[in-house]
Amino acid sequence: MRVIDTVAEMQQQANQWRREGLVIGFVPTMGYLHQGHLELMRCAKSKSDRVVVSIFVNPTQFAPGEDFERYPRDLERDMELLRSVGVDAVFAPAVADMYPEGYQTYVEVEEVTRPLCGAKRPGHFRGVTTVVAKLFHIVKPHLAVFGEKDYQQLLTIRRMVRDLAMDVDIIGHPIVREPDGLAMSSRNVYLSEGERHEALLLSQALAEASRLVDAGERTAAALVSAAQRVLERGSRVRIDYAELRDAETLQEMDTLDRPGVLALAAYVGKARLIDNAVLRP
Ligand code: AMP
Repeated sequence: MRVIDTVAEMQQQANQWRREGLVIGFVPTMGYLHQGHLELMRCAKSKSDRVVVSIFVNPTQFAPGEDFERYPRDLERDMELLRSVGVDAVFAPAVADMYPEGYQTYVEVEEVTRPLCGAKRPGHFRGVTTVVAKLFHIVKPHLAVFGEKDYQQLLTIRRMVRDLAMDVDIIGHPIVREPDGLAMSSRNVYLSEGERHEALLLSQALAEASRLVDAGERTAAALVSAAQRVLERGSRVRIDYAELRDAETLQEMDTLDRPGVLALAAYVGKARLIDNAVLRP
């Protein structure tokens, strides 16, 4: 496994692989890897000849006051996990290499980034699309795998790739969960034992809404309030948002007459967790 920490070296490696006619698969991450990340890498591996994983805690996607400084990092442990999966190269650049002195170029996707996390985390998606666009120019992948856990992010990346005619195939991977239903996340490490228990309410809220859909409920407000009631059982849970939106456009919807995504964000203690489920009528 090659460990690459400069933009120039990564581009040289990507060029060489492309000259050899090899298909490059890419999984961008912020590190502190868990099984969810590893599943994305296995998926990339099954579809490509060489897999590159980036580890970069991207400062531009954190709003002031968010957890950029304390975001968990453990590069040694990450390297072990990456080796165990059989990744070909890890790209772990320094912030100064990605955002050199004088940096002033950003990529902005409009409508789809406005609601949900876009409304709650100003500048977040501008940071995400900028760094992903830049990573695509560095890693030069034929395909890239993103998790459906960050549902709005996945739609935003798809939109960016379509709008800017980026020649990268975007593959969405289902949410990987702990056996009890908790969506895996690097931020789960922030949870105390009691909070970890209450964090389960997110997936339980989604399950409750999905049971109601199976029982015939189609009113968005009813589905959302059922999910909220489950979340409100947690004394340490503070809802950031709970919304049902069109699964393709993220427009508001009153009735589940087409696929909708029930998107949840909640603070459990200090950790801000997200989860979602696509509900189908
Ligand atoms: P992150 O390191 O949190 O930026 O995540 C890197 C990639 O892994 C993103 O595409 C995430 O959507 C994806 N990811 C993180 N957690 C999960 C999970 N539990 N299931 C599926 N994908 C995930």
